[in-house]
Amino acid sequence: MKDQIKKFLAYQGKIAVTCIQTTELVEEARKTHDLSPVATAAFGRLLTIAAMMANDMKSETDKLTIQIKGTGPLGMMVVTAKARPTLKGYVANPQLDLPLNDMGKLDVGAAVGREGYINVIKDIGLKDPYIGICPIVSGEIAEDFAEYFAKSEQKNTAVALGVLVDAKGVKSAGGYIITPMPDATNDEITQIEQAIFKAGAISKMLDQNLSLLEIAKKVTGDDNLTPLDTNTNLTYQCDCSKEYMAQGLASIGKQELQTIIEEDGEAELTCQFCHKQYHFTKQELSQIGCLNKVDK
Ligand SMILES: [Zn+2]
Repeated sequence: MKDQIKKFLAYQGKIAVTCIQTTELVEEARKTHDLSPVATAAFGRLLTIAAMMANDMKSETDKLTIQIKGTGPLGMMVVTAKARPTLKGYVANPQLDLPLNDMGKLDVGAAVGREGYINVIKDIGLKDPYIGICPIVSGEIAEDFAEYFAKSEQKNTAVALGVLVDAKGVKSAGGYIITPMPDATNDEITQIEQAIFKAGAISKMLDQNLSLLEIAKKVTGDDNLTPLDTNTNLTYQCDCSKEYMAQGLASIGKQELQTIIEEDGEAELTCQFCHKQYHFTKQELSQIGCLNKVDK
């Protein structure tokens, strides 16, 4: 199955479900940054939730940025997403190696840290971008985002995110968000809680080649789902360019740029999202310096 996002309604429209498979996306990120298994799991979970959130953005110019600043050894993780969704990001310590946790699983919580913050910045063309900040609950990411949705968006949700990694790379990755509408009954919510428990891990279900429809049925306990939209346009891709890097150089300030020109006579810049290298000659740097002067 190709990476995709599917939306459904359950319990006669009283429960909204978004299911996603991100296996190829997370594998691409793993290869780009040469991520360790625990970094793949942590960053893959973040990419998966970001893809589901970005899937709701409508305009080509909309942009979502999520930063997780935990106190753990993995350091900061950043993901930015544009409509369709197209995602990119980076991890401060991509080669982090940690022992497995008590359950024999990759210890994402310890890698991210049990304390810290999630920052969500949504730029949807309004005068000011929306900024949401929420403390980390467990560092396991799904739990942290359930808390974020409750606190920042007043939405009660069940969030699951999972990445299965073996020696060759990402075996499966994906997740789901279940959101009860205001008219959902306590009985229905209890049924869903039991269904989620019975269904087990999302990465396992994907690894067993279950379709997103089958997964949505399992995690809601409802066999009569109404399918809504499907999106197969998920990509992990950097959109950097020499112009973009030049803007970055221009923003460091005239003085510093002058120092680089005088001392180095050239500059080599590496994109932190994709590791592509950009070379700037002395002449190019001087031009950037001139633009900088005009701007100020
Ligand atoms: Zn790049």
